[in-house]
Amino acid sequence: MLQIIDNYDLSGSNTFRMKASCRRFISYDIIQDLASIRPADLTGPVFHIGAGSNILLTGDYPGTVLFSRIKYYDILGDNGDEMLVEVGAGATFDEFCSWAASKHLWGAENLSGIPGQTGAAAVQNIGAYGAEVKDIVVRLQCFNLETRRLEAIPLEKCAYAYRDSAFKHEPFKGKMIITGVLFRLSRSKGPNLSYKGLARAFTQASPKSPMEVREAVLGIRGAKLPDPSVIGSAGSFFKNPVVSPEDFCRISGAEGEVPHFDLPDGSVKIPAAWLIDRCGLKGASVGGAQVWESQPLVIVNRSGSASSSDVLALESLIINTVNERFNIILHPEVEHLGPGAEVKP
Ligand SMILES: Cc1cc2nc3c(=O)[nH]c(=O)nc-3n(C[C@H](O)[C@H](O)[C@H](O)COP(=O)(O)OP(=O)(O)OC[C@H]3O[C@@H](n4cnc5c(N)ncnc54)[C@H](O)[C@@H]3O)c2cc1C
Repeated sequence: MLQIIDNYDLSGSNTFRMKASCRRFISYDIIQDLASIRPADLTGPVFHIGAGSNILLTGDYPGTVLFSRIKYYDILGDNGDEMLVEVGAGATFDEFCSWAASKHLWGAENLSGIPGQTGAAAVQNIGAYGAEVKDIVVRLQCFNLETRRLEAIPLEKCAYAYRDSAFKHEPFKGKMIITGVLFRLSRSKGPNLSYKGLARAFTQASPKSPMEVREAVLGIRGAKLPDPSVIGSAGSFFKNPVVSPEDFCRISGAEGEVPHFDLPDGSVKIPAAWLIDRCGLKGASVGGAQVWESQPLVIVNRSGSASSSDVLALESLIINTVNERFNIILHPEVEHLGPGAEVKP
């Protein structure tokens, strides 16, 4: 069913728990509902929200917010080893991870515990513990709001990169609504323990099932990250910066040992959490917003009533402090939506 609500309160629709509303909120259950939205129904700019776990609402949204409740699992192929399963964009991604692990299907287990919907997971190219969703995506089903037609977008056209995809940029952004994601899972692939922190959980014996890996991942996440049902946040606030080998030598020359990942093109990725920690910003706060003690990459709504101005001021403080010390500009991973959303160092 199509539901249209004007002046909708979005406070319960974002895990940061920012208070904001939108001019119009349209939710839908099936593709036909989506197709029945008339251009005149879309007042102002259009934003498609998922579970709101990667957004910072900086004020009331002057346009239309779309929300999907499309939930289905369709098995489209099974050759005994590989299974192709299409999942509705509105289904909770972690429920899919749990389902796959329970069926002894490898591929999604390292991504366990990441909040949000399946469509958004494919937009974000979510990643954790050495895996990214692009590793298991085959194709996306989309509804093009402009042409009003269904389109299948194969993996090659998704332009996947670190927390990035074609869906975050023109011409797809705001126009291509993901309705379903086709995943490829495997019965024989075995575990991906490329991430040291996860491998450490299996020093005694290698995991025999995706469920064992899922449980280890959930345990590690639980110890480090705030539970969105208890404390508001949008997960990692900043992307890990990628620097040139020269910049890396400059920083390690001044700082000593610097944790890093060498990338195939010669550039070097440095954990933003380390840079923030090194600046002494762990636990720093502005108003009700605070840098999370156990993982300084996360900004939390510590008081429960932090305003977006508190978060934006803390964001600027972090960007400026890291820039002054390391000459590196951190870029937010969290999407800012609303007035004053641009934060400049
Ligand atoms: C505690 C916590 C931990 C987290 N850990 C991780 C982590 O380990 N790794 C990681 O990568 N992320 C992590 N995140 C970030 C977040 O969970 C992911 O980015 C997630 O994919 C966002 O999903 P969502 O449904 O909340 O999307 P939203 O935040 O609502 O939207 C995200 C983007 O997707 C777009 N979108 C949503 N649905 C559709 C659709 N159907 N069609 C087209 N566009 C759409 C939106 O317009 C927006 O651009 C974490 C967040 C929290 C709060």
